[in-house]
Amino acid sequence: MIANVDPNTIVYLNGDYTRLADAKVSVLDRGFIFGDGIYDVVPAYKGQAFRMDEHLGRLERSLKLIGLEVNYTRQDWEKLVLDMLARVSQGQDCMVYLHVTRGAAKRDHAFPANTTPTVFCMVTPFERPSVAREKGLTAISIPDVRWLMCHIKSISLLGNVLARQQAVDAGVDEVIQFRDGYMTEGSSTNIWVVKDGVLLAPPRDNLILEGIRYRLLEELAAKAGIPFEARPISEAEVEAADELLLTSATKEVLPILQYNGKPVGTGQLGPVYQALRAGYDQILDQLEG
Ligand code: PMP
Repeated sequence: MIANVDPNTIVYLNGDYTRLADAKVSVLDRGFIFGDGIYDVVPAYKGQAFRMDEHLGRLERSLKLIGLEVNYTRQDWEKLVLDMLARVSQGQDCMVYLHVTRGAAKRDHAFPANTTPTVFCMVTPFERPSVAREKGLTAISIPDVRWLMCHIKSISLLGNVLARQQAVDAGVDEVIQFRDGYMTEGSSTNIWVVKDGVLLAPPRDNLILEGIRYRLLEELAAKAGIPFEARPISEAEVEAADELLLTSATKEVLPILQYNGKPVGTGQLGPVYQALRAGYDQILDQLEG
C-alpha cells in the first residue's frame, strides 16, 4: 500500500489496463536503474483533454531527443489518453501522466538492443488553483544546478526534486532558478517577468522546459495587446519586476507576490496577470464539458 494512492484506480501498462496495485515493472527497468525515460502530463478539465496535441508533440520530441523508439503513432497516444480519461476521469478535472522508459535490460549504460520500451499511463485528480489566484505565491532565488538538456521532459528529475525541496524547506511556494546570472525556470514551472507593461520570458532553449503554457501565454498576451519578448532576463531584472508570474499545467497561471522576502512590485495582483488569467479562464470556459 502506498499512502494517499487508490490501489484500485485503473492504470495502463504496456498494453494492459490494470489496477494500480497490480501494475508491476522489473527492477531492471532502465527508468528505475538510470532514470532513462521521458514523461508528459496532459491536463483535462471535466474529463476533456486540454492542449493534447501540444503535449503529445512534446512527448514525441522528448522521445526523439533521447533516441527512444517506441511503436506508438500519434493516433495511438491520443487513443491512450482518451481511453484513460473515459475509464478513469468520471468527468472530473484530472491529469493524464504518460511515462516511457527504455525498458528492462541487463544493467549497462549503453542503449540495449531488442528491448521493448515500458509505457505507463495514469490519471490522477487535479484541483484547480483557487486561493493562490488572489493571494499569490511566494518564491526565492536559487542557483540552477541541473544539466544542460532541460528542454527534454526527462524522468531524471533529481535536480528539480532538490530545487522543489529547497522551496519547502524555506517555507515558500516555488524557487526561481538562475544560471550564470540569468533566470531559467521554477522547479516545475515556467516563470514570467512583467516590466513596464511588457511580458518577458527566457528564450526557448535547452536551459528550460518549454511549457505548453509558454505559447499559450504568448497567444493570450497577443490577444490582450500585451507586448511579449523572449530574451535572457538577469537577476536584477527579476528583483525589479513589476509582476512575476508562473505557469504550469496544474498551476495554470498564478502571480508571485513575494520574492526573496520582499513584495513584487506593489505586492498586489497586477494588470498583466489579471488580463492573462481572464484569457486563460475564458479558454477553459469554452471547452465543451
Ligand atoms: N518547467 C518544468 C521544469 C516543468 O516540470 C514544467 C511542468 N511540466 C514546466 C516548466 C511547465 O510546463 P507545462 O506548462 O507544460 O506544465
